[in-house]
Amino acid sequence: MLEKYDLHCHSTASDGGLPPAAVVQRAFDQGVTVLALTDHDTTAGLAEAGQAAAKLGLHLINGIELSACYQSQCLHIIGLNIDPQHPVLTQGLAQQQAIRAERAKKIADKLKKKTHTRSLSRGDVGRRRGRDYPFAFCRFSIG
Ligand SMILES: [Zn+2]
Repeated sequence: MLEKYDLHCHSTASDGGLPPAAVVQRAFDQGVTVLALTDHDTTAGLAEAGQAAAKLGLHLINGIELSACYQSQCLHIIGLNIDPQHPVLTQGLAQQQAIRAERAKKIADKLKKKTHTRSLSRGDVGRRRGRDYPFAFCRFSIG
């Protein structure tokens, strides 16, 4: 039998549109026999995907797509046949998530400073739309 490979796909564990088990099912339905789930910077979907693959008899390769910077270039590196429990990987991913959480907090704090907290009427909304106003960053209620 001819093998059909898909060595790069994403699930809702990162930015994919389907949960890991559904990704596996879709691949199986399309004749894929060897699938690598390579979510961005996470191995969170691999267990679910592995269970789904085992039920279908599909060969799942544990994968990941790591974000990295090298000489001011941002790269995405596909890792195949990884050990999702390896301490170097789990520590690196945890560190990366902590950095992202800190960056998100800083962004949220900056947006919070720009937030307009006064309640707006429908008339206010219309007037403000016509200006160069950071409307998307405003917290408001329409009375
Ligand atoms: Zn990708």
